[in-house]
Amino acid sequence: MPHDSLHLCRRSFLMRAATIAVSVRAAGGQARTRLILLGTGGGPRPRKASSGSAQVIVINNAAYVIDCGDGVARQLVLAGVALTTLRHVFITHQHSDHNADYGNLIWLAWASGLSTRVDTWGPPPLEAMTRLFFKMNAYDITTRISNEGRVPLVPLVHVHELRQAGPVMSDANVSVTAALVDHAPVVPAFAYRFDASDRSIVISGDTAPSQNLVKLARGADVLVHSVMYPPAIDTLVARVPNAASLKASILAHQTSAEDAGRVAQEAGVKTLVLSHFVPPDDPDVTEAVWLEGARRQFRGTIIVGTDLLVV
Ligand SMILES: [Zn+2]
Repeated sequence: MPHDSLHLCRRSFLMRAATIAVSVRAAGGQARTRLILLGTGGGPRPRKASSGSAQVIVINNAAYVIDCGDGVARQLVLAGVALTTLRHVFITHQHSDHNADYGNLIWLAWASGLSTRVDTWGPPPLEAMTRLFFKMNAYDITTRISNEGRVPLVPLVHVHELRQAGPVMSDANVSVTAALVDHAPVVPAFAYRFDASDRSIVISGDTAPSQNLVKLARGADVLVHSVMYPPAIDTLVARVPNAASLKASILAHQTSAEDAGRVAQEAGVKTLVLSHFVPPDDPDVTEAVWLEGARRQFRGTIIVGTDLLVV
């Protein structure tokens, strides 16, 4: 596809996303629930093309962050979300492209003035990860408390380890439900559904095509689904010495765009947002490729995610 038409293609996605945003805002009188894609690339390798896997849902000026890939704090800043509004953190599974900046996000939000409670949710060993992170950084934390007069950080953070599907939490803004998805050997791996007063948003995490995810996403307004493009996996894994086992792993526990479309269609969601692209930066795998795959199965609105896109 020539570059110009690709560019137009991209513009039409963005315009479609903007249209959705406007219609949601018009429907409710109050502040609407915003979903911002913070990082849309799959895999832990830092890259130019996209930041590590992360999303934020902002409701009534409270930030609910889902996954903390590399760069999540800076992406929040670039998205215009004040770090002091961080309220909840959800980790889908314990892979470094989803948790590398978990501790850093909380620590740097605190260093930016956060002085209120933060609850974190995710699979074990979230408790130990949190405790050890604060221990590792005790020197800085203690110094800033005594020297800069900050509130103690550790008592602000409340960790909740999740081991099974079901209701996670609810507050005045939102109810959150988890489903177990298929990402073995990383177990448990969760998808999360957020039901707010004006819309429902589901984040798939990493998974092979999952019937649990179909059930969780039933009738949702937005499903953010991770995707891979199988024909490009050979090129992707050629960078590393463990190519054969990495390829087998990716093919076994990720979902093609076509299958993501199938999941979205079966669940009856209104909008499918493709994200966590594997490969994340292969110039031959264009937005049109991702779109075509999903379109073969899904008749609703499809958005090919980009970093900092507001949905
Ligand atoms: Zn993963």
